[in-house]
Amino acid sequence: MFPHLKTPKAEIEARIAAATESDAVASATKERPGFFDLLNLISPAASGCMPLLRSRAAQERRRYYGRTVSVYAPLYIGNTCVNSCRYCDFRVQHQGTARKDLTMDEILMEAAAVRASGIDSLLVVAGENPRVNSVEHLAEVGRELKKRFSYLALEVAPQTEEGYRTLFKAGFEGLTCFQETYDEERYGYFHPAGPKSNYRFRLETQSRAGRAGFRTLGIAFLLGLVPWRLEAASLAAHALWLQKECWRSRIQFAFPRFCPTEGGFQPEHPVCDGDLEQMMLAFRIVFPRCCMTVSTREAPAFRDAIVQTAADNMSAGSRVTPGGYAVAADGDVAQFTLTDKRPPEEVFAAIRANGQEVVFKNWDNRIGG
Ligand code: SF4
Repeated sequence: MFPHLKTPKAEIEARIAAATESDAVASATKERPGFFDLLNLISPAASGCMPLLRSRAAQERRRYYGRTVSVYAPLYIGNTCVNSCRYCDFRVQHQGTARKDLTMDEILMEAAAVRASGIDSLLVVAGENPRVNSVEHLAEVGRELKKRFSYLALEVAPQTEEGYRTLFKAGFEGLTCFQETYDEERYGYFHPAGPKSNYRFRLETQSRAGRAGFRTLGIAFLLGLVPWRLEAASLAAHALWLQKECWRSRIQFAFPRFCPTEGGFQPEHPVCDGDLEQMMLAFRIVFPRCCMTVSTREAPAFRDAIVQTAADNMSAGSRVTPGGYAVAADGDVAQFTLTDKRPPEEVFAAIRANGQEVVFKNWDNRIGG
């Protein structure tokens, strides 16, 4: 469980198991639902009132985000990694497939291809390889990409607060770091070696980035590793804690569901579409102002529906291999299998067909200093 959570795990389990459909209805109609309402809303009993959850979540989503959906693309700059995550094909032990770290010229080629699609927000992703992706190198990448994109976010190895200050100055404003699992014992099993085996250092990543000035702090667990309801309780507790610790930053939820990999890892606790939707609706109801993103791990129909009720942000046209947009990447290892393979313009068309507006840029540094 999230270590700062004061309610014991056994009590959380008992509350979720004991929640009734009328508890869920009461929580879904409360003016200001809180942590214990979230437990009611993610309970098995709440799956009986999904239409109510959908309508309340959609109402909150519209109140804070209107009819807009902001879009971004990930840019993988390298897939070499010193870690040993059992579920990831970028792990150091996974041999037999070419690995690649893009040169600056290649990164700029990729960036140009993404920018040509109209997308103006970029998530820079890399495996953990401190020899290649040092703070200095990432800062140089940031300075170049900031000339081309309005908004830059990072999903790379956790850095020190000092490192984040350098990266923020270079132009990065958003940070995503999945905790993978809040269960410290299972975390140790899934991350047996490498810097990522340090649970606490990873858990405190968002706090360090928030103190360094990062405006958006992305949190998530990897759906499929351990039972999702306890993880969702920890995720909510993490968000509440960060809202106090880093009150200048906004929290962004993601709900990455495990997707098949070439390495063949099978999650022990797969999450079905209905459970994923229920969890996303519950978080939108309890955290109405927080950002929520949905990636191309999910199918087009699921994504097109969930951006009307819960998520306010989605990726489009993603490639999860370094060089996947413009530099030939055939034969390289992808981090996971994409489910939504539509080109960006089809994603934009689907958003507009639902009466929503595609937002490419919603922030400028000159506003607010
Ligand atoms: S999940 Fe991240 S840190 Fe772990 S092996 Fe894959 S790229 Fe490396």
